[in-house]
Amino acid sequence: MTNLRPSSRPPWLRHPLVWLNALNDENTVVAGEFARNNLHRLRLAAFTIMLVNLVSVLLFVANSGAGNEQNARWWTTILVIQGVMATAFATLGLLAHWRLRRPPRLVWDQSLGLAGAATLVLCTAAFSIVDQWVKQGIMTLVIGLMTASMIFLIRPFHAIVLFCSTGLIGMVGLSLTQTNRTVLLSDQATVVAAMIAAILLSSLQWRDRAVNALLRRSLRLSHAALAQKKAELEVLARNDPLTGLCNRREFTRLAELELIRAMRQHTPTAFIMVDLDLFKHVNDTWGHPVGDEVLKNTARILVAGARRADVVARVGGEEMLLLMPDTDEDAAVTFANRLRETLEQTPLQRDKLVIPVTASFGVAVVPADSRAKLEHAYIAADAALYKAKQNGRNRVECAPVRTGTLPATTASSDQHPFSPC
Ligand code: GH3
Ligand code: MG
Ligand code: MG
Repeated sequence: MTNLRPSSRPPWLRHPLVWLNALNDENTVVAGEFARNNLHRLRLAAFTIMLVNLVSVLLFVANSGAGNEQNARWWTTILVIQGVMATAFATLGLLAHWRLRRPPRLVWDQSLGLAGAATLVLCTAAFSIVDQWVKQGIMTLVIGLMTASMIFLIRPFHAIVLFCSTGLIGMVGLSLTQTNRTVLLSDQATVVAAMIAAILLSSLQWRDRAVNALLRRSLRLSHAALAQKKAELEVLARNDPLTGLCNRREFTRLAELELIRAMRQHTPTAFIMVDLDLFKHVNDTWGHPVGDEVLKNTARILVAGARRADVVARVGGEEMLLLMPDTDEDAAVTFANRLRETLEQTPLQRDKLVIPVTASFGVAVVPADSRAKLEHAYIAADAALYKAKQNGRNRVECAPVRTGTLPATTASSDQHPFSPC
């Protein structure tokens, strides 16, 4: 039987190489963002460190000349290191400021952040090494290692290289300035501990940030995918998928708004119902896919002929409906005839096939100031279309819009007669 219980061992123990690879990939994803973040940190750190340098230099200058030759040597060397450190951070701060005004470049941005961390730990190592001339202990180097690991976001591999090499330099340097073997041993042990602590702190900080950044990134991606899905659904809710025309629901919404507007502005509104002639024959002769192409072609012709303010919808299988704001009957009939002729003269051409199509048009106009509803207009347009079919097809007929009671099936029903079932 298969054991379906998940393994209790962590992934880094089960597949260390796979885990390391995945970790490396994740680190690469966030590296650019963190490198930019480091530039901001470096700019601020440079300013602060220079202030600390200034205060230290003032303190040293105020207390100059005290003690023996050894002290004087220490005094001068510390001042030189302060000067070097201040100059280095002034340069790095300016470079970070300059880089922040330019488009991101991973290598440059990452190197600058690393240079900041390296300068901090190397200068503090130098202080601690020189301090051995006058005192014991390596507090400055420990502070430097801790501060660098907390200020900068250093990729774990870089952190290992940086802090280990600083530790090594520190230990060698201490052995040059500290003559007391016991003190040296204690200091070197502290360097190793501080170095390991810095690597750990820095890696934990990086990992925490990386997890957060990756979560934010995946949230942003799902947000974008959701927004795209929403937009697609909105299109689907409004449009007919085959022709791209408005669907019946959207047409109803727009037409009802238009009738309200027309009433306020005392303008007529024309409705033209279009039905392809003997379309069943097209399907039966050339097949449904060709029938679909004919429908798309018809939709293209209607949209191309209509004005920007007109609404063209597919309201049934091969029935389309046009809404023409501010259009009286004469204009609507002229327009319908023009469309009819264009349709007749634009057969669908597919390979060597030429598929002629015609359509019948039913025109119904809601006059200005009429209280007619969309249902009334729809019934009239349908009646006009029926007349066109009866009178031989491929023609335009009109029918008056009557505002009387609606047929029982529509007037009494809860369901809107012109809304999708
Ligand atoms: P008439 O001139 O009286 O309108 O005749 P007709 O053949 O066009 O009318 P009828 O209502 O008998 O047939 C309409 C046909 O439209 C039947 C149906 O298969 C076809 N049809 C409806 N929707 C689609 C569609 O999305 N694609 C295709 N290819 N055909 C469709
Ligand atoms: Mg038809
Ligand atoms: Mg029909």
